[in-house]
Amino acid sequence: MPYRKIMILAEQRGGKIHPISFELLGKGREIANKLGAELSAVILGNNIAREDLMELIYYGADKVYSYNHPVFEYPDVIQYKHNIVKLIQEERPEIFLFGATNFGRSLAPRVAASVKTGLTADCIDLQVDENEELIQIRPAFVGNILAHIKTKTRPIMSTIRYNVMKKNERNSTREGMIVEMKTEIAETKTPRLIGKEGEKKINITDAKIVVAGGRGLGSQEGFKLLKELADLLGGVVGASRVAVDEGWIGKEHQVGFSGNTVKPRLYIACGISGAPQHLAGMKDSEIIVAINSDPSAPIHRIADYSIIGDLYQVVPLMIKEIKAIRGE
Ligand SMILES: Cc1cc2nc3c(=O)[nH]c(=O)nc-3n(C[C@H](O)[C@H](O)[C@H](O)COP(=O)(O)OP(=O)(O)OC[C@H]3O[C@@H](n4cnc5c(N)ncnc54)[C@H](O)[C@@H]3O)c2cc1C
Repeated sequence: MPYRKIMILAEQRGGKIHPISFELLGKGREIANKLGAELSAVILGNNIAREDLMELIYYGADKVYSYNHPVFEYPDVIQYKHNIVKLIQEERPEIFLFGATNFGRSLAPRVAASVKTGLTADCIDLQVDENEELIQIRPAFVGNILAHIKTKTRPIMSTIRYNVMKKNERNSTREGMIVEMKTEIAETKTPRLIGKEGEKKINITDAKIVVAGGRGLGSQEGFKLLKELADLLGGVVGASRVAVDEGWIGKEHQVGFSGNTVKPRLYIACGISGAPQHLAGMKDSEIIVAINSDPSAPIHRIADYSIIGDLYQVVPLMIKEIKAIRGE
């Protein structure tokens, strides 16, 4: 039987490894140990420091395939796809995992189609069954059931949601191999990314404090109040899908099943009922505070602190109190 291989894509942004890469290594290591397989990280970038490549080993990789070329300065799906497909054809991994980031969601289907395999998108867990087969678990029917999916084609390919898998403890005594790969430039007539105008304004997935608003805000204006509270606490503003659909705030703020998964230390839900699709994106927050005028709203059931009242009375009081504590 050929040696079993598992690969993950280690994403980087501006040369710094994206945290999803360490989460994929955590789950990849667990599966590799169960299957007796080798775990590799594939990283494509421009001048990534060797110590950053070593981090991938410290977090679980046995091997790192490192591509170093200016063409990877920006996330260019065509060039990424071209080189990853070639690597898959040469190394024939059994399993290949991508992060379900915007980039991973765009790249993975292209790679899967090129190597004629299936893709299970947005997994929230992976397990190995008693026959050593991989079970890919993802929400289906709007999150009402969890589908357990087995794939016949190889490699088995999945995208994994950000912030749901645990990374391993860093172990700087782990040893592994870094393989410098030769980049092949794909001939392409599609537009190429040659730079970016500006940074995305918020990074809600990594925020430690999220102050989120829903339909209960009643208007776009309400988000100014939430922003004031978020700024005071050093947090960011989140939103339910209704608030986004109403056009009160941008999609990048949306928390939930079809938005972002967040795991902050503090999540303050203001005028949000707590629909399952919203809870899917924030239920793992450390402390949940719900401000909702309806005592029967489902959000109160998962809240650590429930404030039953009008957010337009409660939030200004919180702001006033915080300012008073700080002597402002
Ligand atoms: C396929 C699919 C994907 C979805 N994905 C998402 C997703 O990613 N994220 C998401 O959020 N939703 C998602 N939804 C929508 C979800 O089902 C709910 O419709 C949505 O979360 C409800 O938003 P809400 O809580 O803001 O509004 P509502 O359910 O209308 O709740 C508003 C709440 O505000 C309270 N309220 C009103 N006025 C005040 C006040 N002055 N002070 C305090 N409280 C007040 C009310 O008591 C009520 O509980 C999805 C739905 C589908 C079908």
